[in-house]
Amino acid sequence: MKPFLLKHKCAVQKDICTAIKACPTAAITYEEEENEPLGGKILFDFEKCNECGKCATECCGQAIEMR
Ligand code: SF4
Ligand code: SF4
Repeated sequence: MKPFLLKHKCAVQKDICTAIKACPTAAITYEEEENEPLGGKILFDFEKCNECGKCATECCGQAIEMR
């Protein structure tokens, strides 16, 4: 299963994102994006993801589901 972001639940804050810190393979990154309502987006690199599910467990807004 891969992580899927429920965007409406995500705070999209680089500095408080517990999922980025929890990921053991550095597969989650934050990217500034002017056109996004919250000024940025959370990205998953599925090449790096080992499907461990830690991001879903640690996500500050329960915004990540393993699907
Ligand atoms: S921890 Fe989850 S809700 Fe919080 S910013 Fe990161 S992905 Fe979004
Ligand atoms: S499932 Fe594991 S490896 Fe994949 S993005 Fe989440 S924390 Fe990182």
